[in-house]
Amino acid sequence: MPKLETLRKIVQEVDSAETLDDALVLIVKRIRSAMSTHVCSVYLFDKDLQAFVLMATEGLHQKSVGQVSIPLHEGLVGLVGQRAEPLNLDDAAQHPQFRYFEETGEERFKSFLGVPIIHQRRVLGVLIVQQREQRKFDEGDEAFLVTMSAQLAGIIAHAEATVGIYSSTNQTETVGSESKYDGIAASPGVAIGVGVVMAPPADLTTVPQKTISEDKIALEIERFQAALKQVRRDIRAVGRTLSKRLRKDEAALFDVYLRMLDDNALPGEVISLIEEGQWAQGALCAVAMEHIRQFSLMDDPYLRERATDIRDLGRRVLSYLQEEASAEPKQFPPHTILIAEEVTPAMLGEVPPESLVGLVSVLGSSNSHAAILARSMGIPTLMGAVDLPMTQLEGQDLVLDGYMGRVFVNASRDLRHYYELIIAEERQLVVGLEAIRDLPAETLDGRSIPLWVNTAMGADVNRSLERGAEGIGLYRTEVPFMIRESFPTEAEQVQSYRVQLESFAPRSVTMRTLDIGGDKALPYFPIEEDNPFLGWRGIRVTLDHPEIFKVQVRAMLKASIGLDNLRIMLPMVSYVGEVIEAKRLINDALNELRDEGLPIARPALGVMIEVPAAVYQARDIARHVDFLSVGSNDLTQYLLAVDRNNPRVAGLYHSYHPAVLQALRCVVEDGHKEGVQVSICGEMAGDPGGAVLLMAMGYDVLSMSPIHLPKVKAAIRAVKYTEACAMLDNVMQLLDPKAVEEAIYTLLYDAGVGRLGNRRNIEAG
Ligand code: PEP
Ligand code: MG
Repeated sequence: MPKLETLRKIVQEVDSAETLDDALVLIVKRIRSAMSTHVCSVYLFDKDLQAFVLMATEGLHQKSVGQVSIPLHEGLVGLVGQRAEPLNLDDAAQHPQFRYFEETGEERFKSFLGVPIIHQRRVLGVLIVQQREQRKFDEGDEAFLVTMSAQLAGIIAHAEATVGIYSSTNQTETVGSESKYDGIAASPGVAIGVGVVMAPPADLTTVPQKTISEDKIALEIERFQAALKQVRRDIRAVGRTLSKRLRKDEAALFDVYLRMLDDNALPGEVISLIEEGQWAQGALCAVAMEHIRQFSLMDDPYLRERATDIRDLGRRVLSYLQEEASAEPKQFPPHTILIAEEVTPAMLGEVPPESLVGLVSVLGSSNSHAAILARSMGIPTLMGAVDLPMTQLEGQDLVLDGYMGRVFVNASRDLRHYYELIIAEERQLVVGLEAIRDLPAETLDGRSIPLWVNTAMGADVNRSLERGAEGIGLYRTEVPFMIRESFPTEAEQVQSYRVQLESFAPRSVTMRTLDIGGDKALPYFPIEEDNPFLGWRGIRVTLDHPEIFKVQVRAMLKASIGLDNLRIMLPMVSYVGEVIEAKRLINDALNELRDEGLPIARPALGVMIEVPAAVYQARDIARHVDFLSVGSNDLTQYLLAVDRNNPRVAGLYHSYHPAVLQALRCVVEDGHKEGVQVSICGEMAGDPGGAVLLMAMGYDVLSMSPIHLPKVKAAIRAVKYTEACAMLDNVMQLLDPKAVEEAIYTLLYDAGVGRLGNRRNIEAG
């Protein structure tokens, strides 16, 4: 069996091929030689033909490439694809499903080993090896080919998805054909606009490719040389400082670095690319990445290590270029669709709100905090678009479908028109919903339920009031912390909390104490953990840092003077002791302020139920507080063991899972046994169907992103409470989340508000 090292090299080499065709040719070449077989071929599944097409081969006739297509249910290749499992035969011709394709000349080969190429449960193709003599491939061979195919599946899927926008020779040349990329629908709506790529600092892989006009070339070269000069100066300085502590041969490393930065080395290539019209950052990254690729393929370990040096040097130069660029404010076109590897709340703040129409993130899922913020701002969003060729989308025309979770590059006129109609239709729906703004959320048979909102920024307040919100059920205080460069002072916090409290008075405002950790990092307070969602998060951090906690609580209390509408809520509680400890700190803060002579009313105190342990302790916790509020986003993730940010398992994240429903019912019943108010502030409350279900369970308050409030109200006003309770009894018996969704949708549909479901439902209904 070939070695792991061989496997790693093949994958690396294939990964850096420029086109899918090049990748496939390399795959068959390298595998044939690694396994010492006579033939290696790859067939890819063609959806239109419903057949496996021979895409590359080493050993069969080259003229049959692209010509031979094997129908899904035919031949041995068809069988491997259909069964999605390996097939290992010492005499292939004896197999009843053997079919011989004359064009390939494969009659000479007796033994056959085929394995499926599967990406995300989808069979992309079949990889086969054949041998002239009759012999069974051994287990080692089979294991190697299976491993190879598993590794190649991702590369092929990515390459397949990328084909179509660019020609294989010039990565920045637009061919003009339409391409589609799927991801996770994270915030509803449609956006038509222009891609703007936001790259994290000094990351060579995410810098967009951008062309510049001829008159800018000289200036761009000047910029590059200035950055280079700074890096040379830095390296000399480091070299000097370390020279006394290093051996002579070690210190020579700095000379190697400087030689790499010599005008005739890397910089020469970068300048040539700039002269061809590429901007300096893009040119630098293209050259650096190519050298990194070549060095990492070297057999000699010393030379392989040079890839690390080039990456380091490239990053240094890039960071100077970026620093210089950030001195000029970045320009955003009027219909910006922001693209990033990982969209962060801070990025949202960088684009002027009137220009931002959509968001696309390669990583993350619909429950990531960036997605939640996007929903609260009403920005159509696609998350987890893992196959997106992000760096090539700068300045491209995009159509983003936030209902279905897809983005189109260079959409055809017809498709664009279709989406323009949807945007117009949505405007109509909003106008219709505005009419019920001042009416209560009350069912046809007179059951009413308060609808509150989740906020994070000052701007959310007006949006929420315009939509008829009756209170704030969750103010995510960490967001103002996240868009700063250091912890805000007590006075600064008082100021931002006062905006929320004052605008909503006399309605209640629920402020959650700092919930950092997990996927919410503060740039100035990094928390490095292998498993951050099970780590130092929420109340765990603030109880360990009472100074941060107390300053925040003091600020909340001071901001509430004269308004008395503050409620304080604790996140990520997993046992009663945390509540007791936090309550003691809050009491201390209250007493201190009262001692200072400030007339502060005692705020209501609540706990978020978002960790499974807290579900089972809801009654014990309730005895210590005034209200409970379910955080269904985290509760779902922890109950189902499904990372809320991981696109790979997003299909398993389901708020209608029977275990989640049982937990939700248990919390509301137990909370009521102790006589406390029970609300919910997870995203589930903002889904019109979910809201009706939660009302039937007995939740006292539903708190949601402001954007969802009108739709939720319309759904509640359209149904009868008695019918909602009957539906609840029914769904509590069901075992499949999809069946639960169906039952809820049927209720909405029968009530004449099927339109309020998601787009899939609108299309179905
Ligand atoms: C939740 O977990 O449901 C919640 C409301 O909090 P967050 O989404 O901010 O973690
Ligand atoms: Mg939470």
